[in-house]
Amino acid sequence: MTSTATDSKRAVVVGSSFAGLTAAFELRKHLDRKHEVVVIEPRDHFTFIPSLIWVPFGKRDPEDVTFKLEPVYAKKGIRFINDAAASFDLDNRKVITTGGEEVAYDSLVVATGPKLAFDRIDGLGPENGYTQSVCNLEHAMQTREAWERFLQNPGPVVAGTAQGGSCFGASYEFLLNTHHRIRKAGLEDVAPVTFITAEPFLGHFGLGGVADSQQRVEKYFDKLGIEGIANNVITEVRDGEIELKGGRKLPFAFSMIVPSFAGVDAVSRTEGLGNPAGFIPVNDEFRHEEIENVYAAGVNVAVAPPQQTEVPAGVPKTGQMSEVMAKVAAQNMAADIQGGERREMPMSEMEAICILDGGNTGIIFKADHVLGESEHPRVMSGPQAHWAKIAFEKIFMGSRKLGHPIL
Ligand SMILES: Cc1cc2nc3c(=O)[nH]c(=O)nc-3n(C[C@H](O)[C@H](O)[C@H](O)COP(=O)(O)OP(=O)(O)OC[C@H]3O[C@@H](n4cnc5c(N)ncnc54)[C@H](O)[C@@H]3O)c2cc1C
Repeated sequence: MTSTATDSKRAVVVGSSFAGLTAAFELRKHLDRKHEVVVIEPRDHFTFIPSLIWVPFGKRDPEDVTFKLEPVYAKKGIRFINDAAASFDLDNRKVITTGGEEVAYDSLVVATGPKLAFDRIDGLGPENGYTQSVCNLEHAMQTREAWERFLQNPGPVVAGTAQGGSCFGASYEFLLNTHHRIRKAGLEDVAPVTFITAEPFLGHFGLGGVADSQQRVEKYFDKLGIEGIANNVITEVRDGEIELKGGRKLPFAFSMIVPSFAGVDAVSRTEGLGNPAGFIPVNDEFRHEEIENVYAAGVNVAVAPPQQTEVPAGVPKTGQMSEVMAKVAAQNMAADIQGGERREMPMSEMEAICILDGGNTGIIFKADHVLGESEHPRVMSGPQAHWAKIAFEKIFMGSRKLGHPIL
């Protein structure tokens, strides 16, 4: 693809999940029609990752949690390139795809999410190890097979987040759903459940806790008979056994551990784009700290944890936060291209709303500041959390498929 005509500019979005899809819709909304919006994404579909916690238990099938991207973009007048970015030529403002195409841009937003860093722990992960994952659809389907094997041959279960991880909500949700399914299958006596986490205490969530979240989570675990191990470091995973720092060994018949995240290879191999871990440093406009026409949104944005914890634990970047970042970035990209109002959103002011589903109940929490003290934190638990998550899924999927996002 060659450069754009003189008065027409091109905004390019790399990645098309929560952050990328939102950025593309917002750019199309803000930019005059003469300007082009192009999306580069290797998957031909969008996956609603929050519902992947239900896929292993047969509560959702792939078609329930995905939709094809190309028709949605075609309807909106957005060009979709179904390929991955291999690297970025920042000097010449081009994205180089794995297929060898050079896509020129006037403004760029990188929304490539994380690389799942299973390789930081021997034996971790579904590809070269022994634990399961629900971080993408393929992994969730593999976890479904592992769950079916477990039902034939049940035993202890271990769920959690590895050291350096940040996606704590997903591991809590998966834990609670697994416990719910074990109870429904009448396997409680043969399948004790253990939760391991890098958080300094249960209910920390990478945010320092929200209101009385620690007490609530501890009480809930007590009620369900789940052992929770905070400040946890996994030293090695072997077939059917996780070893923790200090030597404790946890046997398992089924285990799902969310890994730590790194930046994707396309960012890491582009000098000057990411930090040493591959995350992109941005200012309050979600513009790269050093590079004028480059923005980033979503999980691939660099956010330093507000406090050091004994075991490294990152700040969670939820889908809802990724969308806020994408909206801010897109508005500023449009302002760069054709003028207009700019927008800033310091991470310290961003709020986080999280619904943790527990199978038939759950916890909803809202922190009014992801970083720092929340003035009006809220935590609520009960069946309404389960129904809220289902409503979130239905409204999100329905509106995005139509190209008219609400929520
Ligand atoms: C099990 C689970 C449950 C969750 N539940 C919730 C929830 O209830 N609520 C909530 O708000 N958040 C939830 N989250 C978090 C949420 O899924 C993430 O915050 C969100 O997916 C981040 O969006 P993103 O666009 O930054 O990155 P991602 O969703 O990771 O998407 C990145 C996209 O970039 C593409 N990409 C990667 N590399 C390249 C490349 N080189 N070139 C082009 N494209 C590339 C990928 O294919 C992908 O489509 C959950 C996460 C998990 C794992």
